[in-house]
Amino acid sequence: MNQAARPQVAFLLILLMSGWILLQMGLVVFHQISDVRYDGNLPIYLVDLFTDIWSRHSVFKMVFTCLLIITITRICFFIGKQAFLDHKWHSIVQNRKNDALSIEINASYKHLRTEIIVIQEHKPVALTKGIWHARIVISTGLLHLLSNSEVEAVLIHEQYHRLCRHPFKKCLIHLFCFSMNYIPALGALRSYFDVCIEILADKHVINEMNSTYPLSSALLKMVNSRKQSFKSTAVQFTDGEAINYRLSQLIEPDHPIKVPLFSLQTSLFSISMLIGMFIIVTLKCI
Ligand SMILES: [Zn+2]
Repeated sequence: MNQAARPQVAFLLILLMSGWILLQMGLVVFHQISDVRYDGNLPIYLVDLFTDIWSRHSVFKMVFTCLLIITITRICFFIGKQAFLDHKWHSIVQNRKNDALSIEINASYKHLRTEIIVIQEHKPVALTKGIWHARIVISTGLLHLLSNSEVEAVLIHEQYHRLCRHPFKKCLIHLFCFSMNYIPALGALRSYFDVCIEILADKHVINEMNSTYPLSSALLKMVNSRKQSFKSTAVQFTDGEAINYRLSQLIEPDHPIKVPLFSLQTSLFSISMLIGMFIIVTLKCI
């Protein structure tokens, strides 16, 4: 498969699988709601609905209902947690923004045509954050650690993430993988996506700069200086899983990088889960 198409295919597969599961869950909710007649009294209706779910359906449907409750709870938890982290992150950026350095950096890299924010932070930070309007954020620690060409390599890498809307895709992927973690193929596809986008972003830097050196030295310095301190769904420059693949690409830039997808065990278990769900939802006889 074309290297550039890999993350798109992984993203599409995640959307299809998650959409399929959500559709089945929607059908079960519709079926269970329409099983009980609403006569204007909400508390009685809820009691009847609860009784209907737990006493008039097969054990398989009850297990599916538990899965549905777990999924909805985890979706709400993920959204709540992200909203909290985003609020915290927004405050950090507002409070620590170094206006003078931000103006200077934006003037130096105006050819990237994106807003770059410099924050006061001694650790080296470089990330792209924002679901609808992604922005690149770097720290003063990064500017002290890296040379000008290394900073440029990092910014071109982050710009690629911004142009491909990776923060938005990553947030959606993490939401589905977290809420439906009982389908192991989703987790495997998430890891695959995360690694592929880092390899592609690095490839973009190598093509733009015609050299692997600035990126290699920036990456090594960042990895050695461990560690970025912000927990969020931002796309961070030294995201863990991809490091070894990225270093391999930098050592041999013309050698295609093979990223393993999922094992036979993961595929079989996930396919069984999806087929099982489909049978439970569609066949009323079990
Ligand atoms: Zn990256």
